[in-house]
Amino acid sequence: MAATETTEQREFREYCSAWLDEHKPPPTKIPLPQAAYEVTSEDHRTYLVDWQAKCYEAGLIATDVAKEYGGHGHDRFQQIASTEVRRAKVPYFINWIGLGMAAPTLLAHGTEEQRKSFLPPIFSGEDIWCQGFSEPGAGSDLVSLQTSAVKDGDNWVVNGSKVWTSLGHFAKWMLLLARTDKNDKYNGITYFIAPMGDQGVTVQPIHKMTGESGFNEVFLEEVVVPDHYRIDEVGKGWQVAMSTLTNERGAGTGVGAIASSESPFAAIEQLIALAKREKRNGRTLWEDPVWRDKLIKLYERTEAATQNFRRLGVKALNGGAMRIPLQGKLTGSELGQELHQTALSMLGMKSSLYIGDPNAEEDGRWALGYMNTYTGTISGGSSEIQRNILGERVLGLPKTK
Ligand SMILES: Cc1cc2nc3c(=O)[nH]c(=O)nc-3n(C[C@H](O)[C@H](O)[C@H](O)COP(=O)(O)OP(=O)(O)OC[C@H]3O[C@@H](n4cnc5c(N)ncnc54)[C@H](O)[C@@H]3O)c2cc1C
Repeated sequence: MAATETTEQREFREYCSAWLDEHKPPPTKIPLPQAAYEVTSEDHRTYLVDWQAKCYEAGLIATDVAKEYGGHGHDRFQQIASTEVRRAKVPYFINWIGLGMAAPTLLAHGTEEQRKSFLPPIFSGEDIWCQGFSEPGAGSDLVSLQTSAVKDGDNWVVNGSKVWTSLGHFAKWMLLLARTDKNDKYNGITYFIAPMGDQGVTVQPIHKMTGESGFNEVFLEEVVVPDHYRIDEVGKGWQVAMSTLTNERGAGTGVGAIASSESPFAAIEQLIALAKREKRNGRTLWEDPVWRDKLIKLYERTEAATQNFRRLGVKALNGGAMRIPLQGKLTGSELGQELHQTALSMLGMKSSLYIGDPNAEEDGRWALGYMNTYTGTISGGSSEIQRNILGERVLGLPKTK
């Protein structure tokens, strides 16, 4: 129990923990991908949507959201639910873009009608969402996006293409950024909710070096988006996008528990277990002082990240709302990469054996995990961009030119 917890919060924590223990679903026949953004099979989708719906009904998702928007109406209980979900090492929530980005954006900028109709199916996982921000010529430099939306009566007609669209193959709705004025870089962008199943939307999978294809290219050709699917005012898309990205980059309101069994915090335990099995010169790596020193340093960094995260709950220690979560995305993703890289060094030649090879250590999870850790250091803003943001917005350093 945290030192600052009230009796009500402690009871809620105990409830979450007991519920998760009792309802943890049995594993799938074919193992789930390491992360929600890599889910492509229909069986996995059904299993994960069902799991998310149960957690929502149990009050672990949308815990602090008002009841009129489909939430459970508590105050500051979400962090407790999220912590318990992480601790229980249960399957992740497939609708992570809906929970982590669409819901907070709608809560902050949506109309009453949009919140009431779109939020409940986001929480239950019934409607999966994707994010249509990046384009072939607009990633870090997002403001260069070219997909256009032209007004036609009560509708907008959208043309263009998006890239790296995670879960685009399952999504019912897209958070879409489109250019509504070519002559105004920042104020010429508007934010829409685009229907993915409509005519004119083509989704093509992109195959990663891991062999997975959780993200896509999305082509939008004369796609009609009603004006009441616009979020906030025409030309305010950039400001709304910044609010979505703040959530994606870690400093969000956390309307849903986002669980991942592949966090660095889980990986360190598995890495130490690996060191206790792997042998060199007649002894385990855990017994070798050089390896042990390396592992202890990684353990300390993991523990430091955990303790740093706990400061979020203590106002006097959190140094401003954005600082710890933004820092967490940067350090957590880089630490995860180092943990996996260390595992590959421990495995030596065996690290080249991949999933499907009967001789691969732990079914090739370390090699796959290592490649997948690049997701964390690229998506939602690369580490370089995250450093710029921390420098400018948290440390108050002068802006880069
Ligand atoms: C697994 C995965 C899932 C993704 N899912 C989605 C999604 O669902 N929806 C979506 O819209 N996008 C998604 N993305 C795209 C992601 O947001 C972009 O890849 C990211 O913003 C970087 O853009 P880019 O790929 O165009 O790289 P670029 O912007 O071309 O960057 C290339 C390199 O240059 C560096 N760089 C660029 N500008 C600067 C600068 N100013 N200072 C210092 N260094 C700089 C970058 O750090 C990077 O190393 C996903 C990406 C990945 C990897």
